[in-house]
Amino acid sequence: MATGFFWDERCFWHGGGNYALTLPVGGFVQPLPAGLPESPEAKRRLLNLMRVSGIDRHLAMQSAAPASEGALRRVHPESYLESFKALSDERGGELGLRTPFGPGGYEIAALSAGLAESALAAVLRGDLTNAYALSRPPGHHCLPDFPNGFCLLSNIAIAIESALAAGLARRIAVVDWDVHHGNGTEAIFYDRAEVLTISLHQERNYPLDTGNAERRGRGAGRGANMNIPLPPGTGHDSYLAAFDRLVRPALDSFGPDAIVVACGFDACAFDPLGRMFAGAHTFRALTERARAAAEALCGGRLVLVHEGGYSEAYVPFCGHATLEALSGAPVSVPDPMRETVGARQPGPRHIAMVDALIGDLERFFLST
Ligand code: ZN
Repeated sequence: MATGFFWDERCFWHGGGNYALTLPVGGFVQPLPAGLPESPEAKRRLLNLMRVSGIDRHLAMQSAAPASEGALRRVHPESYLESFKALSDERGGELGLRTPFGPGGYEIAALSAGLAESALAAVLRGDLTNAYALSRPPGHHCLPDFPNGFCLLSNIAIAIESALAAGLARRIAVVDWDVHHGNGTEAIFYDRAEVLTISLHQERNYPLDTGNAERRGRGAGRGANMNIPLPPGTGHDSYLAAFDRLVRPALDSFGPDAIVVACGFDACAFDPLGRMFAGAHTFRALTERARAAAEALCGGRLVLVHEGGYSEAYVPFCGHATLEALSGAPVSVPDPMRETVGARQPGPRHIAMVDALIGDLERFFLST
């Protein structure tokens, strides 16, 4: 059995048009040549690096069918899907907050969700050991009827609902280490006991008003939502401490049938939309931990779904280290930025501050 890698060239064809930190551009705001920070380049360069290193020959590389209308409707209301499809058929546009799409954006978003859906189904059926879905556009910010943060459909929620509906799993845990809060996934499963949602994120980055630790879920879902807001400047050691002391115990007590990671690389030290100091070795170590948790709790069933990550130069190395850890393939790409990332790590005072914060959160989560 192999590690699956789900991707499709057409996901790189999604485009948002002009941008310059805000929308619309014009007046005094000159558009940036690269357009939206959520450009295809970071993901395409990851794929390029995989081909240059040869790791692609150790993975089960494949595309997938787009998520079906029925699969989309389990998460998104028909009114939203109809508006999205109509605008996509016409000329593209904007239906939410800073999430523009071009003509045909609907089909590309459905394909992006389909990659995550097929990856999770294949792992749950036992066809693959584990899997990575290079989904684009990303999904974790998207609410059922409100696209935001470059996310047009909730890829992971669609994949999970399909798996639950097919009887492939009963309980699924989501670990979101994108630097931004996984507000969409949280909202969709907020009152559900069978899906544990955990988000590690930079506090008050995006969205500004979500991601507080006090948000623990509602009704049957009480206790099945965990937010771990971390201060700007958090580095390698603190990320691993947060995983070991907060994420792993929550996974242990939940007992999932599979673990899905919302895998953003925007907590890396060079991301223009984050202020954290993770390196490729951090994502390797986080993936090793996620894999160990999956092996201990659910037969190794682990699926990583690509979310954000806007450093076109560094995302490929973070992604490659992640795939090395996920697959155990005998291919190794050295991190050309390892020394620089090491030199940028926060000092002992910052680490002690985050340590104390993690201690507070440990006590809080135990009591709620
Ligand atoms: Zn992000």
